[in-house]
Amino acid sequence: MAKVIAIDGPSGAGKSSVSRRVGKKLGFLHVDSGALYRIMTWQCLERGVDTENPAAVAAAAREIDIELRPMDGRIAYFVHGEEPGDRIRTPEINAHASQVARVKEVRDKVTAILRSMTDFGDIVVEGRDITSAVFPDTPARFYLTASAEARAMRRQKEEVEKGIANQSAEAVKASLLARDKMDSTRKYAPLVKADGVIEVDSTFLTLEETERAVLAALPQDWKA
Ligand code: C5P
Repeated sequence: MAKVIAIDGPSGAGKSSVSRRVGKKLGFLHVDSGALYRIMTWQCLERGVDTENPAAVAAAAREIDIELRPMDGRIAYFVHGEEPGDRIRTPEINAHASQVARVKEVRDKVTAILRSMTDFGDIVVEGRDITSAVFPDTPARFYLTASAEARAMRRQKEEVEKGIANQSAEAVKASLLARDKMDSTRKYAPLVKADGVIEVDSTFLTLEETERAVLAALPQDWKA
């Protein structure tokens, strides 16, 4: 049976960077579940769907086809034969993603896609409901967090470095907190610190230290 490392936490806590490193170290494929919600959001916006209308979002979600391809240590997503890349990382998508992710049909579809990924092998999956709803029974479950200030600073730096946006740290922080609030208060599969997860607070940790904390807490026979 494929092994699953599940990592949840609020926006900008460092889940992607840590998951990628842990995956690389152990030979587990990296799975970015947020990117699936971002693709759903992007496709809704492209089709002119009102993201505040759950029925319209649900109808659009049924039509969206996402192809999975394991490559370069991750499971890549293709839409109409192309990877969306940074088109799903814009402030506009950030502003609408949590609305789209509230819709039950969207969550059911993404959850089914995520569960099917064990067919490709061992995976490290990051998101908001992986430890609580998608893979609640895996023995390696983590809640990665950091202060709102640290998270906003990291996200802002990343946006500027990637040339995605040039917002102030304050604006990035406001957007993160708005998303966190919506993600933790929604009806279906909200972001929670699930019972029994291992909490790692990365506010004062380097990426290497955070990675080490995760690796150290894995079942003994999973370690490389
Ligand atoms: O992780 P990322 O910031 O890319 O996720 C974008 C959005 O997707 C989150 O704000 C959240 O609303 C949603 N999401 C979710 N469940 C997950 C992963 C992401 O609801 N497992």
